[in-house]
Order: sequence, then C-alpha cells, then structure tokens
Amino acid sequence: MMRKPIIANKEQSGIHKIAILGMGRSGLASLKLALKNQIIAYVFDDNIKQIPEEFSGLFKHYSDWPWEELDSVVFSPGIPTYLPKPHPASMLSRKFNVPIISDIELVIKLQTASKWIAITGTNGKSTTTALTSHILRTSGKSVSVGGNLGTSMAELESPGADGFRVVELSSYQLEITPSLNPDISVILNLSPDHLERHGSMENYAIAKAKVLKNVKPYGLIILGSDSNLLPLLPTKYECYLHLINKNDIPKAVKQNFALSGPHNAENAAVAATICRKIGIREEQIKKAILSFKGLPHRLELVASCNIAGNKLRVINDSKATNDAAAARALSSFQHIFWCAGGLAKENSLPNCIKELKQVNHVFLYGNSKTQFQSELSKLIPTTIVESLEEATSKAFAAAKDLTLQEGVDSFVLLSPAAASFDSFDNFEERGKQFTDLAIKLCRNNLTLRSQGNAG
Ligand code: ADP
Repeated sequence: MMRKPIIANKEQSGIHKIAILGMGRSGLASLKLALKNQIIAYVFDDNIKQIPEEFSGLFKHYSDWPWEELDSVVFSPGIPTYLPKPHPASMLSRKFNVPIISDIELVIKLQTASKWIAITGTNGKSTTTALTSHILRTSGKSVSVGGNLGTSMAELESPGADGFRVVELSSYQLEITPSLNPDISVILNLSPDHLERHGSMENYAIAKAKVLKNVKPYGLIILGSDSNLLPLLPTKYECYLHLINKNDIPKAVKQNFALSGPHNAENAAVAATICRKIGIREEQIKKAILSFKGLPHRLELVASCNIAGNKLRVINDSKATNDAAAARALSSFQHIFWCAGGLAKENSLPNCIKELKQVNHVFLYGNSKTQFQSELSKLIPTTIVESLEEATSKAFAAAKDLTLQEGVDSFVLLSPAAASFDSFDNFEERGKQFTDLAIKLCRNNLTLRSQGNAG
C-alpha cells in the first residue's frame, strides 16, 4: 500500500485561524487539536454550558467571528449546512468564502499521515468499522478507530505512519471532508435515509459517493453486494475494485451469535476483505471473528431464559432506525415477537414486508403505530399499544406462550424501523429501557429458569 510520509502542521496545512460551531464531542476534540497546533480558534454553541470553563474565553457569537480572517469553520455533523434550513453561520461562510469542514478534515490536515480506511453506507457502518479495527488490533496493528462511531478522530492519537485509522463516515461528514484520501474505501449499502438533510435520494447518494473519489492508486474500493452501488463509482479511478460476494464471508461468522443474520455476514465479508488486502492471515481473521463481542443496540442479545427446555431470547436492535435495517433483523431469527415504532423516516416498510415469514406478531407503539399497522395488519397479527414498555411486556408474554405450547425457541425483538425522538432522547436510551425491562421480565418470571443477562 502507498505511503505518504508527510507530517502535517500548521504551516503545511495552511490553517492558522478557525472557528468551531457546536461544542459537542467532535467540536471539543477539534478545539483541543487546533490549540495543540497553535491555531487561533473561536467557538460558539447555542448552549453556552457546553463550553468548558477553561475555554470560555474563546466563546464568540458566530456573527462576531472575524470571517475575513478565518481559514475554515468546523461544523458538528448534526448542524445543517443547507437543508432543512441552513444554520446562519453556514450562510456567513458562503458569503465570506470560508470552507465548512469536519473534525476529520482537521485531523487530515494537522496530524501525522497514516493509512486511512474509510467506511460508509446506510446501515452496518459501525459494526463493520468496529469489526475491522478488532481484526487489525488483534493482529498486532496500531489502530485508531472513530468518526461517526462515537469517538471523534480528533480525540485520538495518531496511530503512526504505518498504523491505520479506521473511520466510520456519515453522509454529513463526507460532505465536509474534502481532503479525504483513503487507502481503502467502502460503501456497504444504500437505501433512503436522512433525506430531510439531503433533499433527495440523489443528493444522499452523491454525498456517500464522495468516499470513493480520492482513493490512493494501488488502494482499494470495496462495494457491498447491492447492484445499486455500482453507479456510485467515480468515472475514473486508479485503484483496485472489489465487489463483495458470498465467497468473501469468513466461515467463522456462523459460530458467533453477535454476527447473526445475512447482513452481519456481509459486514464480516467486508471487514475480512479489508484485512486480507492489508495482508492479515486467514487464521487471524477467523480468531478475531470468533472473539468479536458485537456492539450494543445492534442485534444485541440482552436477556434470555429457559422455558421447559427451550429458549426465549430477547434481542435489542434499537439502532435499526429505518426499514432496511429492521428488515435485516427480521430475516435473522425465527418465531419473532417484534416490537416496532417511533418516528417513521419513510412512508412505508417495503423491506420489512418481504421478511415477515418468521414474524409471529408485531406490537406497535409510538408515532408511527397506525401507519405501520395499516401496512402490516393485512399480513401478520398486529397489536397497538401505548408505549415501548407495554410492547415489550406483551411481546414477552406472547413469546413465552408460544415456547410453552409448541416447544420451540422464540425471540422478542426490538427493531423499531423508526427513529426514537418521539419518546426518547436517542436510540441508546430506547435500547436501555427495553433491555432493563427484558432483564426484569426474565428474572421475575418465576416459572422460568432465568439467566438475567445475555446467555
Ligand atoms: P450504522 O452505523 O450504519 O447505523 P450499525 O452497525 O450501527 O450501522 O447498525 C445499524 C442497524 O442496521 C442495526 O439495526 C443493524 O442490525 C442493521 N445492520 C447492520 N448491518 C447491516 C447491513 N449490512 N445491512 C442492513 N442493515 C444492517
């Protein structure tokens, strides 16, 4: 793989003065990185409490920033640059011709060069990013992993010139990371999501395709198995191309419950393909696949109990905030008692509808409950309930009945196919409420031999 032994710094990067909008995790990390590089910085957040005391002297309203002197303005990925309504600072940046950049762009400009592995897609980014870094780490490589995954890349130490930065990129981050020049780039899949920010599916696809634009010569582009990804390839590229197929799936996937389902087999195929390109041996990939613990809120086995020799398992897939992701969960298990609902992102559930064969009953709550019911009730038994709590209890009782009466294993699955914001702050909080209740239901059920937590 090509090396680029450049040590970037303030002079080479051309960045001397910046402003940072949003003092969440990525904003704060960007600020610290900028200050470490003696860059002058101004910061603004609507919520002044977000700005730690030690940096309060840098606070300045964006309308008072010295726009004519700024080299860049770092936006938190959650702040709209254009749609649904541009933040006023975005209008100012256009007026003064100051580029809006991400924390990742700042890292590319300021930190020691290393090898970059860039992963995007609508679903599976976090799992694939985490699994890739797990394989690399357990193979003895120096790795920094972050991006949309949670830890800002600006927070992390450089892995060194021979180390790897494995970065999960959202479409928002890709739009404002123009210097991305990866060694390996991946698009896992593409289905409608975040259209309120991008305006159309076409714009969303254009944002995702940016990850493929500047891959190094002798580098590698990996595309998931969906044929709808081919049009995202740049018209010209010098690097290698690999289209994921069944032969790429490491066999060990079948032996790890945390990688259940055909979608995780594909995520593992992508992670393994990345690592094969880097030269990791098959035996090492196998070992790492077997020891991967999975990520919370993604098909996470959170509780289980034995019922007369059979198992009732509870699966938290709160991160499934869209139809495509939930459909994958439905195809991963049998005898499913499904809890779904929230703030629907789409008008329908075309993918879930194709995967109802294994679903015994759906319990619908939240804003989308009647919309989902009108689609699903013709196909499977549906029950409308008032809350996730009620959905969980009813699904648990129904799963238990089936397991008792028919002597089969069953699954209670939260895979909402909708965002959480109608009732929760985020998907993590939704997943936690579900998990806490599931553990209690397993424990309290005196007729069952409870294991409390995942088993
Ligand atoms: P992302 O970071 O892209 O949101 P995650 O790995 O966090 O992806 O998974 C989000 C949701 O999508 C989970 O519900 C998970 O089960 C589902 N999922 C994971 N991989 C895929 C895939 N390749 N295709 C479709 N859905 C997937």
